[in-house]
Amino acid sequence: MATLGNPQNTIEILQKYDFHFQKKFGQNFLIDTHVLERIVESSNITKDDFVLEIGPGIGTMTQYLCEHAGKVMAVEIDKKLLPILADTLKEYDNVTVVNEDILKLDIGKIAQEYNEGRPIKVVANLPYYITTPIIMALFESHVPLASVTVMVQKEVAERMQAGPGTKDYGALSLAVQYYSEAEITANVPPNCFMPRPKVGSAVIRLTCHQEPPVKVVDEKFFFRVIRASFNQRRKTLQNGLGNDAGLPVTKQQTAEALRQMGLSETIRGEALSLEQFAELSNILKTM
Ligand code: SAM
Repeated sequence: MATLGNPQNTIEILQKYDFHFQKKFGQNFLIDTHVLERIVESSNITKDDFVLEIGPGIGTMTQYLCEHAGKVMAVEIDKKLLPILADTLKEYDNVTVVNEDILKLDIGKIAQEYNEGRPIKVVANLPYYITTPIIMALFESHVPLASVTVMVQKEVAERMQAGPGTKDYGALSLAVQYYSEAEITANVPPNCFMPRPKVGSAVIRLTCHQEPPVKVVDEKFFFRVIRASFNQRRKTLQNGLGNDAGLPVTKQQTAEALRQMGLSETIRGEALSLEQFAELSNILKTM
């Protein structure tokens, strides 16, 4: 295997194809074999797995994934990378490269067609400009997922893993907890990428729940309550939810729900656990 995961080989292939990085696509390619091995190890992939890679770049991590997984589908938005990927992945017959925007792809259909509807694993060094939309799209589309192992901005990884009462806790933390169990498996400094990003990065593994850990009557409403609670972070829940134009809930109803739950009238959203948000939204929904 012609491993690309070092600066010399990466530069060589970029020059051969006269490739120029596109900032708008969040292109920061990995050039560190230890980090690549760490990601693959964290993802626990085996020859039984179908792996979806988002943004293969020049195919650096894709080569590792092809070695360890049964089948790999790599979805890349930048068509200038296609001739490069055809070259760097030519030794592998278990990979399909798709030139598409991941946010426009029907991943459920792919899982159905390529993996008979069985849970797939997602492994990626994500483009940072759309990390949260990608994670949320994966979860909300209800694609059968076993796990999502991704490199993200360190600060985003911390938000995903945060618990109530911390400054990083928010709507993203709650969505991640509702759908999965999160674990940061590595911190990765900027010098492991070309070009170097301005921020630190981290690898996070989200092991997906087959059943959510809490019961909610209406999932959409539950997430609307969560988003409204954090949109106006400094307000009490009563004021925040009651003032949210989109939410059919009054200040009085929120006060009553909080009373039923034995919570203070002045409590803020950041103090509520996943279980408490589930209970709150279930009470509000039936009022
Ligand atoms: N996997 C490679 C690596 O680790 O070296 C590249 C990772 S780079 C951080 C992100 C990659 O995602 C780039 O190749 C970029 O072109 C691609 N990308 C950006 N937006 C995308 C989108 N909406 N859909 C699919 N790929 C995208």
